[in-house]
Amino acid sequence: MKTIQDINFEGKKALIRVDFNVPLDENFNVTDATRIQAAKPTIIKILEDGGAAVLMSHLGRPKGVEDQFSLKHIVDTVSEIIGVSVKFVSNCVGAEAEAAAASLQPGEVLLLENLRFHDEEKKGDVAFAEQLSKLGDVYVNDAFGTAHRAHASTTIVAQFFPESKCFGALLAQEIVSLKKILEEGEKPVLAILGGAKVSSKITVIENILDKVDHLIIGGGMSFTFIKAQGGKIGQSICEDDKQELALDILKQAKAKGVQVHIPVDVIAADDFSNDANTQVCDINNIPDGWEGVDAGPKSRELFDKVVNQSKTILWNGPLGVFEMDAFSKGTIALGNSIANATKNGTFSLVGGGDSVAAVKQFGFADKVSYVSTGGGAMLESLEGKTLPGIEAILK
Ligand code: AMP
Repeated sequence: MKTIQDINFEGKKALIRVDFNVPLDENFNVTDATRIQAAKPTIIKILEDGGAAVLMSHLGRPKGVEDQFSLKHIVDTVSEIIGVSVKFVSNCVGAEAEAAAASLQPGEVLLLENLRFHDEEKKGDVAFAEQLSKLGDVYVNDAFGTAHRAHASTTIVAQFFPESKCFGALLAQEIVSLKKILEEGEKPVLAILGGAKVSSKITVIENILDKVDHLIIGGGMSFTFIKAQGGKIGQSICEDDKQELALDILKQAKAKGVQVHIPVDVIAADDFSNDANTQVCDINNIPDGWEGVDAGPKSRELFDKVVNQSKTILWNGPLGVFEMDAFSKGTIALGNSIANATKNGTFSLVGGGDSVAAVKQFGFADKVSYVSTGGGAMLESLEGKTLPGIEAILK
């Protein structure tokens, strides 16, 4: 696996695919700069070598050129974080971009305009990728968040750098962390899958059964398993058409020697709102008119034991409706358990969508071993797919 550490960038221009798809407020201020911070080590290494950096990214989902999605809005924030006055060019390809890249001196940084102002980016257009390739001597992919897309800047452009392409520090760290779970996990390995729906995680569950010793199925997903086994789930979220599949997953798990843990009790609410009435129920016996919205105290205790016996942990998906204070306790308790296990030497990876939001919101981000920067990319990796953006560098 070739990374930026294997290349001396002195006198070279690195064309770096970063993920600067950051949230902006109504005055176009960056409200969360995590993704820019995450790209900093790669950019700094290149500049310190005596190279220059040409940064390319998408922002939002523009339909053609739309000022609100211009990357010009983030130039000051990027400059502040990198510690260099970043130059900006109002197109990512063409004469203007080529001139700006050509005049870039060692130690300088150029940010290109939003890649998705051109339809060709998402189409993975080869001619467009070739135009991008003119802007650097080395191609560096440091955007895990888009590595599952075969877009021009994430995948196709790599073919124009057969001998001079590599992973950035962030993407390399994502690959290494995933490997620690999927290939080299110290036993016992535990996967915790929560969230709303079984259907969005089926392929993940099926792939992960070959890699883990324990599987916790929590959150909204668990009710499909409970109902399939004959439990009474009241008004809890359930995918009736996935009941058979749930039973099949349990059968597969048994055959593979994976111990499956499903909540034994829940916090049930009489309304899907923060000030609903609540009661603790046996998960198999939720009264009509009530729905399970969080893991109950016995389940939290049970999961704490499993977590603290594990040496490798993957966490994807909350244990309850954590967006509402009243239903966030189970997810917070799980975060505490994982933080504690991590302190005692367990490797813990949190990734994929809402669990990342949850660990950030509840302050666990620096108490776990690694928080992934990719939602969809993380899920596809866990499904066992080789991501096109990663394959393009390895080829
Ligand atoms: P996912 O994107 O599949 O990881 O699902 C995350 C969502 O699942 C969050 O928005 C949670 O509010 C939701 N969720 C978790 N537990 C439950 C539950 N018991 N009932 C309804 N939604 C839930």
